Amino acid sequence: MEKVLKGKEVSQFIREKVLRDSSKLRADGVIPTLAVVRAGNSADDIAYEKSIIKACSEVGIEVKSHVLEENISHDPYVSFIKEINENKNIHGYMVFRPLPKQLDEKVIKHLISPRKDIECMNPLSLSRIFEGETDVIVPCTAAAVIEMLKYYGEKLEGRNIVVIGRSLVVGRPLSMMLLKEDATVTICHSKTHNLAEVASKADILIAAAGKARFLKKEYVKPGAVVIDVGINTDENGKLCGDVDYDDVFEIAGRITPVPGGVGAVTTAILLRNLIKTAKKQLKLS
Ligand code: NAD
Repeated sequence: MEKVLKGKEVSQFIREKVLRDSSKLRADGVIPTLAVVRAGNSADDIAYEKSIIKACSEVGIEVKSHVLEENISHDPYVSFIKEINENKNIHGYMVFRPLPKQLDEKVIKHLISPRKDIECMNPLSLSRIFEGETDVIVPCTAAAVIEMLKYYGEKLEGRNIVVIGRSLVVGRPLSMMLLKEDATVTICHSKTHNLAEVASKADILIAAAGKARFLKKEYVKPGAVVIDVGINTDENGKLCGDVDYDDVFEIAGRITPVPGGVGAVTTAILLRNLIKTAKKQLKLS
């Protein structure tokens, strides 16, 4: 049994299925199409967009890039989003964040049609996760964690799982999805007392706090599965997770690396979501 749970294999497995599905859609005359909406030209956004275009091209998904002025005001931005919602040739889209300061994400996210919401941004999409519905568009990072655990044969039912982090992007939806899998879930956060004591009861410990290498061996029960969602840079500018990998490695039963762990799977889920929205719009699933 592998000790180090690598994301690449899981990502490959998901992408192969996405490619098969997109080929079927194309054979039926439908080109699965993702739109990206970027306001401005920040280097980070451009790099991210390039990585999305590459990932899509490898699985037969077309990308339409829409670049708006960085100083675009609220009304034209909203009109643009509404146009995309109506465009039958676009099956899903991503709105690059953070949005420029004149645009309010809290308002915009409500306008993203749940039918095309491949990042699960609209609270309506999230509410379906909280209600425990099946056949939903899943939040990418939370789903990536669950795919990793399942791929490597970790049973979830009845296990004690501690999730550190309660954000609406990762910790909270992930906890609800684990609950749906019949795990016993404890959610911890920045105000949790005796975090190490609570965490060290977990069979599966998931760190999504965004604090570079804060999770040390005292937090880990011997043999526990440790999943690191964090993507941080340390004081030397080096990419690292929330888990102090070297400190925790011996005591953990299994562990995900950063980079090369959960992060490697997130984009694959996004691609799979796009195929799902395309099929739903075409009433194929
Ligand atoms: P966030 O800042 O919105 O939320 C962090 C959460 O952690 C909060 O709920 C907070 O209460 C909790 N927290 C903070 N410090 C804590 C501490 N010392 N002890 C216990 N709890 C603490 O962050 P987020 O958007 O949820 O992201 C979390 C991490 O996951 C970040 O490092 C982010 O970069 C990473 N991330 C990774 C992916 C991926 O694809 N792997 C995707 C999204 C986010």
